[in-house]
Amino acid sequence: MTLTVEDTLTLEEIVVSGYEKVVKATDAKSGLQALICLHNTAMGPALGGTRIYPYASIDAALNDVMRLAKGMTYKSALANTGLGGGKSVIIADPKKDKTEELLLSFGRAVHRLEGGYICAEDSGSTTADMMVIRKATPYVVGLPHKKSSGDPAPFTTWGTYRGIQSVLKRINGDSDIRNSTVAIQGLGSVGAKLAELLFWAGAKLIVSDIDKERAEHIAKRFGARLCAPEEILSAECDVLAPCAMGGVIHPASIARMRCRAIAGCANNQLLKDTDADELMKRGILYAPDFVINAGGLINVTEELYLDGYNPVQAQEKVHGLYDQLMMIYDIAEQNRFSTHTAAVALGDYRLKYQLGKRQIPIRLHHTDV
Ligand code: NAD
Repeated sequence: MTLTVEDTLTLEEIVVSGYEKVVKATDAKSGLQALICLHNTAMGPALGGTRIYPYASIDAALNDVMRLAKGMTYKSALANTGLGGGKSVIIADPKKDKTEELLLSFGRAVHRLEGGYICAEDSGSTTADMMVIRKATPYVVGLPHKKSSGDPAPFTTWGTYRGIQSVLKRINGDSDIRNSTVAIQGLGSVGAKLAELLFWAGAKLIVSDIDKERAEHIAKRFGARLCAPEEILSAECDVLAPCAMGGVIHPASIARMRCRAIAGCANNQLLKDTDADELMKRGILYAPDFVINAGGLINVTEELYLDGYNPVQAQEKVHGLYDQLMMIYDIAEQNRFSTHTAAVALGDYRLKYQLGKRQIPIRLHHTDV
């Protein structure tokens, strides 16, 4: 006798212009309410994290997932990962609502997209959650197995460090970090490691975190000047490195800035695209966030090869973010538009001619867990 379990999961497609596929996944039994967004798969399957957050409405969740998925298309196109852009959100409180049933139900939704979308850990979700989702679908990356890429933060940190070198090269004619002043906002997984690398390279550091204890610890350890969270964006420095949250660059913060360049890992640093034009007017060089912070994405992509993850290949590519950024500054200068506009234009060009389209099919190492 075969026992069939009724799948109460439903997938409803939402048609959105400019997006390949947006689906709403609902399962009354598990309480799942999720959106999976495939912005563009011209280069390869869409890869992007699964955010778990108690959005106030489905519209708020839809706006977020669309913005994030589109961002992943450009990040991937510029980082040459041979992947497309996608993202997913589960409307739930990660502290209260996360159950195995909910995650399995989400996994089944991902599976129904037949590999068009590959999920990964993001804010509100953990590696342990991805292990649960994997029971329902192989389309998951960043799992703890022997062919996995592991923690992305060291790679994001090195990419950010290379980005800081790139802006210094542009503003000083020399990428040497020694004696430059760098102000870091946020001392978490990336910010703390960045402070350490910069310390050893001889930078003068100004640091800030809303976690006072953490900030004091890092300041003491690396001889940094401690700065109040509300003052870090206006600290006098060569390079401001936003490494906390998004939306920190806006007209009011720009007006108070006393930095010569901005190069940090935070996602979506600009509140609006036009804020990049304001930075340009003020003569502040901006390393576009979705280029400088691609180290973690580059790293995870490396586990999709037949033999699994190779840190040396990831290292080389992350190191190359310096050249990628220098090219973007050149395009911006030649066309007299912002570095953000230059990065988007380069992404559009790569997408139009499918430069960097995946040639080797991806290999998911789920059987090796
Ligand atoms: P994290 O959560 O480990 O650290 C963030 C830190 O910022 C925390 O210590 C927090 O207390 C602090 N913070 C929050 N608000 C602040 C404020 N107003 N002022 C000062 N400090 C504040 O995060 P992370 O992994 O280090 O990532 C940092 C940023 O980089 C995020 O925007 C993330 O999306 C982005 N990013 C991270 C990676 C990665 O590999 N971890 C990759 C790409 C992008």
